[in-house]
Amino acid sequence: MDLFEYQGKQYFARFGIPVSAGGVADSVDEAVSQADKAGYPVVVKAQVQVGGRGKAGGIKLADDADQVREHASNILGMDIKGHVVRRLWIEHASDIDKEYYASFTLDRSEKKLLGMLSSQGGVEIEAVADKSPEAIARIHIDPVEGLSAEVTREWVGRANLDPKAVDGTVDILQKLYTCFVEGDADLVEINPLILTPEGKVHALDAKVTLDDNAAFRHPEWDEFRGLEQLDPRDALAKEKGLQYVGLDGTVGIIANGAGLAMSTCDVVNQVGGSPANFLDIGGGANAEVMANALEVINTDEKVQAIFINIFGGITRGDEVANGIVQALSSVDIRPPIVIRLDGTNAEEGRAILKDTESDRFISKPTMLEAARTAVELAGGAAK
Ligand code: GDP
Ligand code: MN
Repeated sequence: MDLFEYQGKQYFARFGIPVSAGGVADSVDEAVSQADKAGYPVVVKAQVQVGGRGKAGGIKLADDADQVREHASNILGMDIKGHVVRRLWIEHASDIDKEYYASFTLDRSEKKLLGMLSSQGGVEIEAVADKSPEAIARIHIDPVEGLSAEVTREWVGRANLDPKAVDGTVDILQKLYTCFVEGDADLVEINPLILTPEGKVHALDAKVTLDDNAAFRHPEWDEFRGLEQLDPRDALAKEKGLQYVGLDGTVGIIANGAGLAMSTCDVVNQVGGSPANFLDIGGGANAEVMANALEVINTDEKVQAIFINIFGGITRGDEVANGIVQALSSVDIRPPIVIRLDGTNAEEGRAILKDTESDRFISKPTMLEAARTAVELAGGAAK
């Protein structure tokens, strides 16, 4: 999950990284009241998840309320590289002596964490890497060893910063590293990291990508989600903890395992149908998970048939069958269901399903037959 600048700064602040005081505004009036609070001069900043806002005219300095009004009304609604500005961040403006760049990310090929620090900040790091690669001081970090103050100081020493900036930068990099690791981010970037004429080092921008796989241990990340416009089906699936991707077709799909779920989508396509979704219920296909999955698909009005494709492995076929029967008794499902059950204890599983079978609940022995039946029921042209 990518954060907006203002959210990234909130995240930074939790780890003690210095950022400017400010607030968000969704209207011109709010922008003025936030500016009054932050104290003039202020910067009016477009909140969109794309770089180069400054160049696009989405970042403006303002000396008084009238200028805030003018810039806020220009920037709200502005289109920056296909992103429409709906929200502003207003912060007290900083005086800049030097602009630097700092980031941590993963270097997958080295199987290490990568820190980058450059004396040339405020411009795109790709451009620096292109024109003057020697201006980027890199460090590879073994995540088990971590990043000590001594090593950080040695790294900062290689970046040729103003001597006044060294202590502050060492301190910020240590905090940024903690934010990256304990904050479960895939990327943390400060561009520019500034040195002020008073000799303070300070984050003027924030780019943070959180690792969605770690969301389970960060209930506080929920507050970052508000602005995303989720498909209601995706929202329900997320609430139920299901691996779901909404598509446009008419055949609802439930499978155990991501690979099988993808193959199921392919087979439905192959026989002339169109999948309404991808849904992987994972290994533990119990009654509750199955009921949740059916409930999500049931809310999709386009769905004309549901195809449940289960290959029993560690979860045995009879357990899955019991789960399905139980789920069907707890959720009232609108479209007809076709099921293919194979793998461990498939025979036992099919025997359990037998009592529930009807023209609205059909069991087929193979994936292809099941797909054809589901597509026919959905009114598609099964080949
Ligand atoms: P980006 O263009 O999307 O990366 O947005 P940034 O937040 O990095 O801002 C772009 C540029 O605007 C910075 O590199 C600064 O030169 C300038 N800028 C941003 N905030 C301030 C500020 O508080 N004071 C001054 N003087 N310039 C600022
Ligand atoms: Mn920037």
